[in-house]
Amino acid sequence: MRPATRVLKAGLAAPEAGEPFLAGPTFAAPFHTPGDPADSPYSYGRLGNPTWVRLEAAIGSLEGGEACVFSSGMAAVSATLGCLIRPHMSVVLPSDGYYAVRQLARAMEEKMHVQLRTATSQNDLFGLIEGAGILWLETPTNPQLEVYDITVLAAEAHRCGALVIVDNTTATCLGQQPLELGADVSLASGTKGLTGHSDILLGYVASRDPELISRMRTWRSQNGAILGPMEAWLAHRSLATLYLRVQQQCRGALQIAEFLSEQPKVRFVRYPGLKSDPAFPVASRQMRYFGPIVSFVLPSREKADAFLKACKLWRRQASVEFIPARSAGPDGAAIRSRTGLSA
Ligand SMILES: *Cc1c(COP(=O)(O)O)cnc(C)c1O
Repeated sequence: MRPATRVLKAGLAAPEAGEPFLAGPTFAAPFHTPGDPADSPYSYGRLGNPTWVRLEAAIGSLEGGEACVFSSGMAAVSATLGCLIRPHMSVVLPSDGYYAVRQLARAMEEKMHVQLRTATSQNDLFGLIEGAGILWLETPTNPQLEVYDITVLAAEAHRCGALVIVDNTTATCLGQQPLELGADVSLASGTKGLTGHSDILLGYVASRDPELISRMRTWRSQNGAILGPMEAWLAHRSLATLYLRVQQQCRGALQIAEFLSEQPKVRFVRYPGLKSDPAFPVASRQMRYFGPIVSFVLPSREKADAFLKACKLWRRQASVEFIPARSAGPDGAAIRSRTGLSA
């Protein structure tokens, strides 16, 4: 089945006369449990809910594994680190990944005596893997759009006995399949491209190891990081348009990136789908689509401010922000833009 068809069908039950295509959300705290509660498929809303189960079947089929959904991307990240990190373990991760993930890892470094090893290039990350327990990749990174070769780094990590986790938020499970490329875990925030309407928060963890997913479910029940049934249902409903949204976002992002790279005052345009981008060769090997994010640098913060003020279509929000750009020098300011519904 083609990916575009798979997103339309993902997680839907076999057709039955008189039943809806996608059943509505089940709102319930306790469920009826005659006899032994363990004999009922659902007993209490923190432990399980049929609306999650359908969404998990959908996401699992798109990631190529089994999925466990959480209340946000960070809840999925916390569950993964919480289940897999051991005291005194070394964790390798890119230094340009999602800010909140790096902050959480830093907090664990102190509390759990974990050693973080960070780098910003493929070769440097490769060199840090020996002796580490976890290789945490985010590719493409949000927002700097560095792309790491999952196949090459996962092979090295497995040779060294490390687990490989990939944050698949930016590419989405339609655009990239980390489990197929050798990752042990693919996780993502579904708040972004996956659901795409800027109105729900959601996260998930996917893996081919049922024991690992079972630990994630236990973590979710114990920590209460559960997704509301309404959010789960809305997310599932959004999947039907994922293919169309991703295609259009990528088309728009490439056009914007191409336009920006021809502007003399704009520096360091990054988009993995630009043929001139250093990430292009690896991105075209491992990604089905190049993603919705473009980043670029203007000569100063003032220029970037003026640019945003003059923009008629882009809005400043959590996902349009000033960051000290590593490639921009002391005065540079980078802008990243998520193209599509909000642009
Ligand atoms: C947004 C994001 C997260 C965190 O997800 P939330 O749903 O906001 O908790 C994690 N990783 C990446 C790459 C993200 O963009």
